[in-house]
Amino acid sequence: MVVHAHPDDEVISTGGILARLTEEGIRTVLVTCTNGEQGDGPGGVKPGEEGHDDAAVAERRLGELRESVAHLGISDLELLGYRDSGMDGWDTNVHPDAFTNVPVETAAARLAALMEHYRPQVVVTYDETGGGGYGHPDHVQAHRITVAAVESTGIPDKFYYTAIPRSGIKQMFQAMKDLGVELEFEPSDDFGTPDERVTAVVDVSPYVERKVKALRAHESQGENIFLLRMPEEAQHLFFSQEAFERKICKVDAPDHEDDLFAGLRP
Ligand SMILES: [Zn+2]
Repeated sequence: MVVHAHPDDEVISTGGILARLTEEGIRTVLVTCTNGEQGDGPGGVKPGEEGHDDAAVAERRLGELRESVAHLGISDLELLGYRDSGMDGWDTNVHPDAFTNVPVETAAARLAALMEHYRPQVVVTYDETGGGGYGHPDHVQAHRITVAAVESTGIPDKFYYTAIPRSGIKQMFQAMKDLGVELEFEPSDDFGTPDERVTAVVDVSPYVERKVKALRAHESQGENIFLLRMPEEAQHLFFSQEAFERKICKVDAPDHEDDLFAGLRP
């Protein structure tokens, strides 16, 4: 079970493991907490601009999410249906229904019910910063409710945070420069997950094409997804590994893993 904040978050950090595990016969569940109302509207209309219709944006994005889920072969999609809070500092943060303002115990109870239903052996979500320092309020809230549901149910044998290895990100940006890619931003020195926290790196290179297709399915957000504008070679580099930080392990598994189901396979 993988818990994400918005439609499109499922692809970059976990699309490969979801595709790979499903292909291996493991049931995969994606829980998406919000409807993505604060994404771009038709014609690239930004949230807060005239003509941005929250309900229409949500409907479109949930359709795109279903398409992405089909590309990745994910077994089950569960929508918590909360309202997108928008980026940190936006006016939308204070909307009473915004996911960030829902009491943790309320949303965690719903997630715990899904854990009771699916009995996931492995659960994945973001770290306390929302993923490598991202800080989006909905990502931080997804982290909080998942930690609470994992603790209250005690169900998963293994629990992970997604990770963006700090050294890896540097190599990546250097490689992109070497390929002649014009970078829209450069990561600061403290961007990403400190290397010593990364405990699992999974090779998902056979699934890169499907990840790219899944990301393209989120067409309405194309302007915000700079990875889609990278040359294929750079995309391949970026998409072929997914990294994680293990937080709970109740089974016998190595400290450094290349498989989140290490210790759980027959
Ligand atoms: Zn997100």
